[in-house]
Amino acid sequence: MFYIFLFIIGCCIGSFLNVCIYRIPEHISIVTPRSFCPNCKRQIKTKDNIPILSYILLRGRCRYCEEYISVQYPIVEGITGMMLILLFHQFGMSKYFGIYSLLFVALVIVFAVDIKTMIIPDRITIPGVIVGIIFSLVLRHIPVKDSLFGILGGAGFFIVVAVLGRLIYKKDVMGFGDVKLAGMLGSFLGWRSLIVTIFLSLLLGSIFGILFCLITKRSLKTIIPFGPFLSVSAMLTIFFRERFLGLYGLV
Ligand SMILES: [Zn+2]
Repeated sequence: MFYIFLFIIGCCIGSFLNVCIYRIPEHISIVTPRSFCPNCKRQIKTKDNIPILSYILLRGRCRYCEEYISVQYPIVEGITGMMLILLFHQFGMSKYFGIYSLLFVALVIVFAVDIKTMIIPDRITIPGVIVGIIFSLVLRHIPVKDSLFGILGGAGFFIVVAVLGRLIYKKDVMGFGDVKLAGMLGSFLGWRSLIVTIFLSLLLGSIFGILFCLITKRSLKTIIPFGPFLSVSAMLTIFFRERFLGLYGLV
C-alpha cells in the first residue's frame, strides 16, 4: 500500500520534472505560468494534468489542438515513481532516502535536458555542488573531506579530458557541463563512489557510443552527450555501491 502511495508521489514529482525539462533550456520560470500545450499554448486543465493517467485517457494527444504529446511525459513520470520505490526499498525512511531522492530528481532533469539540447543546465549542477557539501556538513551522510575531494576530483578529471580532447580532436569532445555535473556527483557521493561512477560512465558511454555509430552508420567521431551516462552510472553506483566498492578495494 505504501509503495503505491510512493509511486503516485513519484509520478507527481515526475510531472513537475517534465515542466523543468521543457522550461529550463528555454529559460522560462518553472513556477509560473501554469502548464500549457507546447503546440497551441493553451493552458492544460487540472483534470488533463494527472500524471500517466491523463496521457492514457487523452490517447497521447492535446485536448484542443490534437497534437501528439511527447511520450517523454509519461515515461519520466513512471520512472520517477519507480525510482522512489527502489530508493525506499534500499534505504528505508532514512536521511539517505531523502538525499538520494533529491539527487535522482536532479539527474533525471540532467539526463533528459542533455539528450534534448546537448547542454547540462548550470541551474541544476551549480546549486547541486553546494547542496552536496551542505548535506555532508549537516547530515553527515559522507565525511565533508570526501565530498570536497569528490568535487575537486570529479571536476578535475573532466577538465583534463576536455582539454586533452580539444588538443587531440581539435573540437569539444567533453563539455564544461560535464565538469560541473561530475563536481555535483562528487559533492553528493564522495570521491570513492565517484571513481566507480566515472569508471562505469566511461564503460557505458564507450559501449553505447560504438553500438550507436555502428547501427546508425555514423562516424565514430560523432559527439554524443555524456551527461546521461554519468547520471545513470551515479544511480547504479548508489544502488550497488557496496559491491562495486568492495570490487575495487575502496572499502
Ligand atoms: Zn495543444
